[in-house]
Amino acid sequence: MSAAGPPQGANAPSGGTGRSVMPRNVHSVGPSSARFAVQLRARTLREPAVHEVTSVGATYIGRFAPSPTGPLHAGSLAAALASWLDARAHAGRWLVRIEDVDTPRCVPGAAETILQQLAACGLAPDEPAVLQSRRGAMYEAALARLVDGGLAYPCGCSRKDIEQALAARGYARQRHAELVYPGTCRAGLGGRAARAWRFRTPPGTVAWRDRRLGPQQQDVAHEVGDFVLKRADGLWAYQLAVVVDDALQGITQVVRGEDLADNTARQLMLQEALGLPRPGYLHTPLVLGPDGEKLSKQNGARPLDTGQPMEALNAAAAVLGLTPQAAPVARALGAWQAQWADSYNLARD
Ligand SMILES: [Zn+2]
Repeated sequence: MSAAGPPQGANAPSGGTGRSVMPRNVHSVGPSSARFAVQLRARTLREPAVHEVTSVGATYIGRFAPSPTGPLHAGSLAAALASWLDARAHAGRWLVRIEDVDTPRCVPGAAETILQQLAACGLAPDEPAVLQSRRGAMYEAALARLVDGGLAYPCGCSRKDIEQALAARGYARQRHAELVYPGTCRAGLGGRAARAWRFRTPPGTVAWRDRRLGPQQQDVAHEVGDFVLKRADGLWAYQLAVVVDDALQGITQVVRGEDLADNTARQLMLQEALGLPRPGYLHTPLVLGPDGEKLSKQNGARPLDTGQPMEALNAAAAVLGLTPQAAPVARALGAWQAQWADSYNLARD
């Protein structure tokens, strides 16, 4: 170990071989965080709870993971109801995780509002909600593990650098406004400062089976490229946080809106790279806005009126193909739970 030595990578002289050495001892971008990261390396992702839960295989743990960018609306309630029903139909546990890693987008007080709205709809988590913003040490440990394994590397590219590199190769196309990273820093930073950390995406197609959408596959290396794990602004990327949290919380089934299906292949890759168990996946129908896109604040979604929980729940249930129910909430939820077990494939593992 040369932890006391100068940081490798950014300042390492490029040798005559033209081949850079992976900065295996550099775990984080910030100047003061290397020691922090080394300490964290002793921590392990595989805490006992993960093994106990997943090795038994019979225990179902599901989750609803909203971003606190505003109160729940009809679309997010449908996702919450779906994950709750799937957990209850499996006699499993249901957790809520507040995905507030993208702090600039978060609205103060929104997490509390969301939890109150869920409770008003009879959807109370079985454990106190977890906040991703308090779990940075776990994400740091995961990144350190990937770096140690040569599966993550620092990237010095700005968005403009990436656009120029792509243009030089004749690729001007964007996918979901996300640029396919051209791999510029795979072999080293070339004397530039590290900005972000990226996953070294292995070649080949990732395949999985979604319980509703059926067989799925994606060539991540080709369609996405080496994706970001830690952003240039120091914030954790969604993909890494989700994978770490799903594993540490022992999530066995991920039930979420279909708009997130596109992330699954990246998450499966990270699970494999970190040696974490693979949950099952069910992506549910979306509530669409007037523009035909997924309902969101941007296209006119209004906050749920939890003074009328049955109205809100019936609208969510309709999207999921469940029949309207009368009050009280608890009886309606019970009826939907039975319908859910009939209409959606129950996870078999
Ligand atoms: Zn780069």
